[in-house]
Amino acid sequence: MAGYDLAIVGAGILGLAHALAAAKRGKKVVVIDRDAQANGASVRNFGFVTVTGQEAGDCWHLARRAREVWAEVAEEAGIEVLQRGLVLAARHPESEAVIDAFLKTEMGEGCAKLTADEAQAHVPQLRSDAAKYALYSPHEIRVESRTAIPLVTKWLADKWGVTFRFGEAGTSVAPPVIETASGRIEAETAIVCPGDDFISLFPERMSAYAPTRCKLQMLRVVPAKPVLFRTAVMSDLGLGRYLGYADLPEADALKKRLDAEQAEARANGIHLIVTQSADGSFVVGDSHHYAPTPDPFGSKAVDDLILDEFDRVLDLPGRTVSENWIGTYASASGRWRFTDKPSDDVRIVVVTAGCGASTAFGIAEETIADLFGSQSGVAA
Ligand SMILES: Cc1cc2nc3c(=O)[nH]c(=O)nc-3n(C[C@H](O)[C@H](O)[C@H](O)COP(=O)(O)OP(=O)(O)OC[C@H]3O[C@@H](n4cnc5c(N)ncnc54)[C@H](O)[C@@H]3O)c2cc1C
Repeated sequence: MAGYDLAIVGAGILGLAHALAAAKRGKKVVVIDRDAQANGASVRNFGFVTVTGQEAGDCWHLARRAREVWAEVAEEAGIEVLQRGLVLAARHPESEAVIDAFLKTEMGEGCAKLTADEAQAHVPQLRSDAAKYALYSPHEIRVESRTAIPLVTKWLADKWGVTFRFGEAGTSVAPPVIETASGRIEAETAIVCPGDDFISLFPERMSAYAPTRCKLQMLRVVPAKPVLFRTAVMSDLGLGRYLGYADLPEADALKKRLDAEQAEARANGIHLIVTQSADGSFVVGDSHHYAPTPDPFGSKAVDDLILDEFDRVLDLPGRTVSENWIGTYASASGRWRFTDKPSDDVRIVVVTAGCGASTAFGIAEETIADLFGSQSGVAA
């Protein structure tokens, strides 16, 4: 039986981030996942590593740190950074007030308000009347999650000696023994990063956080002619939903207007994010519906609401939809994450909002420092 310093359950971005932080401490790490490859939220998202717009406080701070780590990991693991920065195109005067207020906070550092012409220099297909008051942020990076996650996994195995055991469901975690459906693993400590599975391991600990799940609809949109977006694109709906903006008092008037004018979009939790892939197509979303067991059905009406906003903001005649998919992530009222400590040698780490891709590398450093102590012994 191999002896590990740390066993991690879950090979999504949270599990991978913890594997990296522990391996950098010289720890011998094994990661197990029940699926043949990571297939959860981490490969279904936009790959949009977002700083600007994250909730003020530790979420924003950890996103800043995580973005730095992502940049290093992308370079070393051979992951292409496809876009840098964000243009949030806004059309309502109430949005301008939110942008102005945001720029006055510490989170506005490095960001700027753009004219429509300036916004179109980043994204020429932005409609002028949809970008009257654009917010620019230089902080974001965008990777293609469905290829980036396997590349991070391979790099952790090759460069950092992390062992991966796919196709093994964790059934019991009690260091020094971790039981899986196909055997036993010996490890001194364990971190459980199960995404939105609250029942397979430590269900009684999980239930204390009253977690639920959020279902999102996503699309891949193909432009009729090749176009290049230098940055990701968002719209007024994002100002009304991302808490870094939406929590500002100035956002109240905007939310009231959006509730009145785009009631259906708001009721379906829709905001617009458009990111571009290497082949020129766009990953576009998304909607938010909450339930303990969300249904697996993608609604055309919801897709159409997302595409309505896409067309309102971008002038791309003849665009088509080539893919649709659904993702789910963990959600909990009043918190964006939790770290639970069932015993001194076990941690459960769950991101309960749609920002795990943007924060995991920061969270992981925090967990590993808590589990293994000070920074001494950090490997190069
Ligand atoms: C459509 C969509 C869009 C999103 N957009 C963004 C975005 O733009 N920016 C952003 O920052 N975040 C975004 N998110 C959120 C982000 O993707 C998640 O917060 C993050 O991926 C969660 O990572 P995770 O590793 O905890 O979960 P997951 O990726 O779901 O991984 C959990 C893994 O644990 C495994 N597992 C669970 N239980 C067991 C067990 N008992 N034994 C073995 N294996 C187990 C599962 O098989 C799975 O592979 C989005 C999410 C979705 C769905």
